[in-house]
Amino acid sequence: MNIEIIHIVYLIASVTFILGLKMLSNPKTARRGNLIAAGGMIAAIVGTILLREEPVSPIIYSLIFGAIILGTIIGWLTAKKVQMTKMPELVSLFNGMGGACAALIGLIEFPNIAAHFPGKLGVVLAGMLIGSVSFSGSMIAWAKLNGTLKNAIRLPKYNILNTVILVGLVGYAVYIVFAQDYSLTHLYLLFTLSLVYGVLFVLPIGGADMPVVISLLNSFTGLAAAFGGFLYDNQVMLTGGILVGSAGTLLTLVMCKAMNRPLYSVVFGAFGEAASSSTSNGPQGNVTEISASDLAVQMNYSSKVLIVPGYGLAVAQAQHVVKELETLLEERGVEVAYAIHPVAGRMPGHMNVLLAESNVDYDKLKEMEDVNPEFAQTDVVLVVGANDVVNPAAKTDPNSPIFGMPILEVENAKSIVVNKRSMNAGYAGIQNELFFKDKTNMLFGDAKKVLSELVNELKNLD
Ligand code: NDP
Repeated sequence: MNIEIIHIVYLIASVTFILGLKMLSNPKTARRGNLIAAGGMIAAIVGTILLREEPVSPIIYSLIFGAIILGTIIGWLTAKKVQMTKMPELVSLFNGMGGACAALIGLIEFPNIAAHFPGKLGVVLAGMLIGSVSFSGSMIAWAKLNGTLKNAIRLPKYNILNTVILVGLVGYAVYIVFAQDYSLTHLYLLFTLSLVYGVLFVLPIGGADMPVVISLLNSFTGLAAAFGGFLYDNQVMLTGGILVGSAGTLLTLVMCKAMNRPLYSVVFGAFGEAASSSTSNGPQGNVTEISASDLAVQMNYSSKVLIVPGYGLAVAQAQHVVKELETLLEERGVEVAYAIHPVAGRMPGHMNVLLAESNVDYDKLKEMEDVNPEFAQTDVVLVVGANDVVNPAAKTDPNSPIFGMPILEVENAKSIVVNKRSMNAGYAGIQNELFFKDKTNMLFGDAKKVLSELVNELKNLD
């Protein structure tokens, strides 16, 4: 009887995952979608533990619930405390934990599966291998995102080395399965090599290419979890894993398109290469500054203003004051919209989430392809804490680490104002020629402070 109930619970949970994922695609429904999917996950976990046919000893129950309570407290507190700007690191860390779980399943189940179900050995090893790569790769991504690892580290011939290790890893796993050589030494060696590969895979990635690797690692974790579902014949784990894996893969393709990188160069670690030969660092002339009061007057007499948000907007938590600016300008008959680059910020969808927080109308968020032709008819473009995503070097400098990445073509606007605190570089570590153009004015200062001044100046114009 329990087994039938558990299948119904799994079916319901799977439906909530699909519904939740669908609802995540729109900021208006995302929060509810997340809760619905989390509810399904709780039902699946509780059902799996309590509806088992085989008896479970009280010690095992206390270990399971002890771990769940501890994990819940840590996860809850971390998610509550994390600042919005630290979210990408947290996502990387959580993704790594998913990979670690899949790797541990492989390590623990290998002897049991080898002894009783050797037909499933490939599944165990695949889950362990992918999970380990995802774990160690995510840890490196985490260190890169929080600034601990600032520069890309490249061993000599790293592309070839990585490809050889990857082929070697797959070959080794195939050998273990077909040679029926189930010694634990093989298992631990494969595990260690997989961890090393994860590190070597992410270490060389530099420039502005991290978004692709983050979404790829995400899909790896989903895939590893799906192998766990195969292993245990657990439908909900399988569905969850496939959903994460396929959503991550789709996101990887979207990110590849946004960065203009072919997927094969991601998989074989050949991207970010140009960074080492970049010649685009260093200042390139004088910049012109503008004051908040002058900008207020200029915007007041504009017909159309486009705002380009970037990572600095998130750092400054200036999303609410940006919304206030939008409202004030619209009251004065100025048309206002936001130009969103797909890799602006530090995680996919970062700017959309940020602006949704301050209730910016979703229809005002214009995607890169749609908004680029509009810059030429725009009176003022206000770039707030964005740098790489508006850097023309992506089109003009073949030595630049971001060369080839489509950018927001703000240089076509009639007037450009860039807000940032200094002349420091963005994530890719390169100077931006946009700042030195004749029609660009710099508005230096923290985004929240400077935009508040701008808002006050606009109010004073009444
Ligand atoms: P960038 O990192 O290129 O630039 C951000 C700019 O914001 C900096 O130049 C900084 O200049 C400025 N800034 C920082 N703090 C403030 C503040 N308080 N007020 C005002 N300005 C501030 O950001 P972009 O959004 O343009 O580009 C994103 C970059 O991150 C790309 O290179 C992308 O590839 C990469 N990336 C994106 C991920 C994603 O998934 N979206 C993931 C990982 C990396 P200053 O210090 O002078 O103020």
